[in-house]
Amino acid sequence: MKTQILTPAEAEKAAGILKGGGLVGIPTETVYGLGADGMNPMAVGQIFQAKGRPQDNPLILHIWSADWLERYCEDIPDTAYRLAERFWPGPLTMVLRCKKRTPQELEELKNGPVCSCTHFGPRVIPDVVTAGLDTVGMRCPAHPLCRGVIRLAQTPVAAPSGNTSGRPSPTTARHMLEDMEGKIPAILDGGPCTVGVESTIIDLTCDPPRLLRPGGITLEQLREVLGEVAVDPAVTRQMGEGEKPRAPGMKYRHYAPKAPVTAIKGEAAQSAAYILNRLSHTRWDGVICFEEFLPLFAEEEGPILSLGPAGDKGEQARRLFDALRAMDRTDVKRIWAQCPDDGGIGLAVSNRLNKAAGFHIIEL
Ligand code: AMP
Ligand code: MG
Repeated sequence: MKTQILTPAEAEKAAGILKGGGLVGIPTETVYGLGADGMNPMAVGQIFQAKGRPQDNPLILHIWSADWLERYCEDIPDTAYRLAERFWPGPLTMVLRCKKRTPQELEELKNGPVCSCTHFGPRVIPDVVTAGLDTVGMRCPAHPLCRGVIRLAQTPVAAPSGNTSGRPSPTTARHMLEDMEGKIPAILDGGPCTVGVESTIIDLTCDPPRLLRPGGITLEQLREVLGEVAVDPAVTRQMGEGEKPRAPGMKYRHYAPKAPVTAIKGEAAQSAAYILNRLSHTRWDGVICFEEFLPLFAEEEGPILSLGPAGDKGEQARRLFDALRAMDRTDVKRIWAQCPDDGGIGLAVSNRLNKAAGFHIIEL
């Protein structure tokens, strides 16, 4: 299969592939997603194959607006609508209860017309989307092309990030092609992602609501709307042996380039100096540093990449996955990275960097 790159003018083609049960790479403001018709279990099943994704790691459903929530969810708390009002369309995923089918609906289904993509599960959403959970992650993305595809297809789009499982998420169509060439029919090119890290995931089925994954919407912003928000321990540390993660996706190794990463957290000038002192001064060491410190590493042989200015965490979020992927195109054997503090979107950058480092963090 040759993977086609579609231009923004070809959004209709992308929607057609989805409606026909195929997979499409879709730009969103966070990262590129690998989309399928979320109501078609056969189509959704192919996502796991193309990514090499474990079956127990659920997907997010992407919808047009909060008006669609009631089609797929039940017991929707008030807080969901308050968050939607403030942050949708945007990089926020809410975990909500799946809508159950009534016995009568199930009966009607069995007696109605059947096709290969009919699902008879107890919930409105196919089990393959939710990994059999009775909760589902819902997001209303902001990227105009992504919204265009959802509107044209008139179906919720199930999509995880468009990378091969375990690799850094794609923030350009080219990244996605690196991983999906020959595996999917098309990628819709919407330019580089403006957020650069995946959506924030907040679980609204518990009290207080719990942050499962930091992302484009910050913890501080969530607290402004919700008051108390718990932070899942897996956000900032490695899950121990035998510990059961709250969300299935949390237990998997993620975002990792081929070479091992060491993340250094602390005052920026200090962490730069720390790295400089430990470099082996060969082309086998790579460095991801803040813009200001590029001159410090000017004499080094290995690849030195900028994550953006120390004070601009938004830029760091946009550049992180590209920097990790760029390291994979070199022959470095070890990667050192400066890591921002946890304020604002720094929590998301630091979380991805720490996961890439297998939580091998040095705090100065
Ligand atoms: P990703 O592509 O990598 O953004 O994958 C979607 C993420 O959403 C994964 O980390 C999943 O574990 C998470 N997710 C999706 N649905 C749920 C759910 N019902 N409960 C908790 N996490 C979920
Ligand atoms: Mg992912």
